Amino acid sequence: MDRIPTVEALGKRGVVVLDDMCNFCHGYTDSVTHIFTACPLALGVWEKISFWCRIPRFFVFSFRDLIEMHNVGNKGQAERDALHGVLLIACWQLWKARNKLRFNGVRPSVDEVFREVRILSFFWFKHRAKKGVFEWRDWCKFVNL
Ligand SMILES: [Zn+2]
Repeated sequence: MDRIPTVEALGKRGVVVLDDMCNFCHGYTDSVTHIFTACPLALGVWEKISFWCRIPRFFVFSFRDLIEMHNVGNKGQAERDALHGVLLIACWQLWKARNKLRFNGVRPSVDEVFREVRILSFFWFKHRAKKGVFEWRDWCKFVNL
């Protein structure tokens, strides 16, 4: 909904930010579309997630496409729900990584962001799915959901 305070969104609200480029790639304006769908950091994370979750490698052109990705293909409901959670957590981690770089100068790597996505989503899934015992090794293979 373009409400998170990217540089582009702040500009629309009358806030001037001198450094308006993405701090990760310096190629494009800091915007929702760029941060989550086009930045090399996001592309790397999505590639790892597609491999991990055994879905075809995907490219999206809008944030809306991204949060609807779990409905593509013919997966069961449990797998769709898990994938949806993974995608939302990945967006959260990309936003945190963007902020850490912009405000603290800490440059994230695709592997670090992906590792955080996998760990955080494991705890989320384990405690939300009500499956009783659910193991880390199953989550790493994205099986037995
Ligand atoms: Zn970028």
